[in-house]
Amino acid sequence: MKQYFILTLFPEMMEQTLSHSIMGRAQRDGLISIKAVNIRDYTLNKQKHVDDYPYGGGAGMLIQGQPIYDAYQSLMPQAAGARVVYLTPQGRTFTQGIAEELAREERLVFLCGHYEGIDERLIEEIVTDEISIGDFVLTGGELAAAAVIDAVSRLTPGVLGKEESFADESFSDGLLEYPQYTRPPVFMGREVPEVLLSGHHENVAKWRREQALLRTAEKRPDLLAKAALTEKDRQFLRGHGIEI
Ligand code: SAM
Repeated sequence: MKQYFILTLFPEMMEQTLSHSIMGRAQRDGLISIKAVNIRDYTLNKQKHVDDYPYGGGAGMLIQGQPIYDAYQSLMPQAAGARVVYLTPQGRTFTQGIAEELAREERLVFLCGHYEGIDERLIEEIVTDEISIGDFVLTGGELAAAAVIDAVSRLTPGVLGKEESFADESFSDGLLEYPQYTRPPVFMGREVPEVLLSGHHENVAKWRREQALLRTAEKRPDLLAKAALTEKDRQFLRGHGIEI
């Protein structure tokens, strides 16, 4: 079973967010376990304050190192040796490749900041990885941690049912996924592409590959430049006036 621990000021938010649908089922089936620890439970002052003013002045407050460190220690020995991922706008930008890397770990600790962030010394002491979910600033790390845990968990064998699969989806081979359709065959006057109704698997596969190539060229040309393309793919793209 994969074990994910979250250090947060809002454990209920994490448990709620990750308790639905596929994530909820994965926990009930014992494939992953998610334990959120409230940093505030480890403060040593009566008022339960976890934050203080930054040295040198400036706006906002910082979470102190002590309650986070003690909350982290409370996870021992289960989390001993586990990578500690701090969600921060200063980290590596999260990608499917990083999700695959983290999915190989049996245990992970996620650290969610709040206010203006966290005392740097705590980061130096326990954090092994810094991950950002994009170039924007959230109020806290919880939504970022939920996004990362979701993306990582669904790569765990058994988490996705037979009806859900990541084999062909966006980024799995460096391309965006082809367009998909379900019933009815005509919706709002728009028809499902005929090839998909033909039952001809080879033609369907060819059409999907071509659509994935065109779609990636149109929406994310940066991905296309890095994707592993065959000579046939390149020829097809050249035929559509797209040079790689
Ligand atoms: N002062 C910090 C800075 O400029 O780098 C930003 C602090 S932010 C208001 C509060 C917390 O939200 C951070 O400690 C981090 O945990 C989380 N956070 C904000 N934006 C994020 C992002 N893009 N990715 C991951 N976590 C983020």
